Amino acid sequence: MKTHQKPALLFFFAVALLAAPQTFSPTPEMYRALADISAASMRGNLSFLASDLLEGRDTPSRGLDIAAEYIAAQFRRSGLEPAGDDGYFQTAKMLRIDPVADGFELSFHAGAREVAPAKDRVAVVSQRPLELSGAPVWKVRNLADVKAADLKGTVVALTASPKESRAVTRAAAGLQPAAFLETVDDDKDEPLVPRLIDPDAEHAAFGGVPRVIVRGVEVAKALKAAKAGETGLVVSIKLPAPTATPVKVRNVIGLLRGSDPVLRDQYILITAHYDHLGLQGTDGVFHGANDDGSGTVSVMEIGKALAGLPTHPKRSIVFMTFFGEEEGSFGSLYYARHPVFPLDKTVANLNLEQLGRTDSSAGSEVSNASLTGFEFTNVARTLQQAGELTGVKVYETPNGDEFFDRSDNETFAEYGIPAHTIVVAFEYPDYHAIGDVWQKIDYDNMAKVDRMIALGTLMLADSPDAPKWNRANPKAARFTRAK
Ligand SMILES: [Zn+2]
Repeated sequence: MKTHQKPALLFFFAVALLAAPQTFSPTPEMYRALADISAASMRGNLSFLASDLLEGRDTPSRGLDIAAEYIAAQFRRSGLEPAGDDGYFQTAKMLRIDPVADGFELSFHAGAREVAPAKDRVAVVSQRPLELSGAPVWKVRNLADVKAADLKGTVVALTASPKESRAVTRAAAGLQPAAFLETVDDDKDEPLVPRLIDPDAEHAAFGGVPRVIVRGVEVAKALKAAKAGETGLVVSIKLPAPTATPVKVRNVIGLLRGSDPVLRDQYILITAHYDHLGLQGTDGVFHGANDDGSGTVSVMEIGKALAGLPTHPKRSIVFMTFFGEEEGSFGSLYYARHPVFPLDKTVANLNLEQLGRTDSSAGSEVSNASLTGFEFTNVARTLQQAGELTGVKVYETPNGDEFFDRSDNETFAEYGIPAHTIVVAFEYPDYHAIGDVWQKIDYDNMAKVDRMIALGTLMLADSPDAPKWNRANPKAARFTRAK
């Protein structure tokens, strides 16, 4: 689960729903499959994925790659069908953005006046070194400004309205400026660019022109005050090495093909993120056992159990683990932009997070589970029925909705797919700390919760009706537009 990036909605309310009739009765084969979900198996898997060797599975890192290979090996052992472009792997070509290195220089001149922003106030997105000496800064507000200018070799400061911004940027990029200049009008201490960028999106937006982003009120003010067109400002830049390096990172995808000739073309995604925070400073390894090694081994375990069914569920079930969630849901966003299975045939996403720690900050959560956006769809009702059959209480926690946008489920919700993150403890000691280790996981409880999730998945997969958004819930309204 990633740290909060957006203000949470602070209100919640209750919606009375009719209790759904309990019509599902699991077959003996289903109960046998559920019994295959093993605490010992997950203890073994998680002790590897959260080991020191994997160095906290940062995106990108060798530890992350080893984890991906291990997950793929377990999918293979279970007999899931490989569904990536490279066996079980969906390869994402991303750009890793590094801070500007030693030797970087940046200064603005307006007549005799000079401003040289500090290195930690600047981010650059460039796949090549850059050296400019006294390049004129052109201020471009709209398409007319672009037409009126010879932008070749200049540094273009874009101040177009959000509505026009994309078109103006593309038009300007076509004239081969030396760089784009963006300013952030504050002095906050926040990252200026993400650590990972999709190169296709970057190229579509900026045409491969390097971007220099400067934070600070002084530069922002100078640009704001400058007239459109040639501003009279000149800029000198020395970037000795590229800041954007191509990297390959991978989602891991295994398919359990549905058995019904019609419903098999609909998909349910069972997901978790397998990355974590890596090595940090002098603190050492952030193991990420609960966040989200627990979800990862649960996806592997539920995949194994359901793959053992003699008759597959009616709908197809996709088991998938994502890279880059902690950096900003990059793995799920990549998948959504490059879906292996059509998103309009994807009927639900159950995303699994933080299933291993029962010592929640809110109290003990033994035999309990919850989900984000509890009343956003009718999925919680199904999971409650599955919980009744497996001894797990699935209940709504007061702050659960605040976590709806804190994990990969949100990516799919934005595409109109009913999507939740299933959680045992929303908050727990050692969250995003080095103490999140595999030894602290309650494996027996996790196996029990996973049986509830596995049974709930079967119920969703076999139901004649796909899950639905709850249109009566105003918080769900923004996600219902696509379906
Ligand atoms: Zn996290």
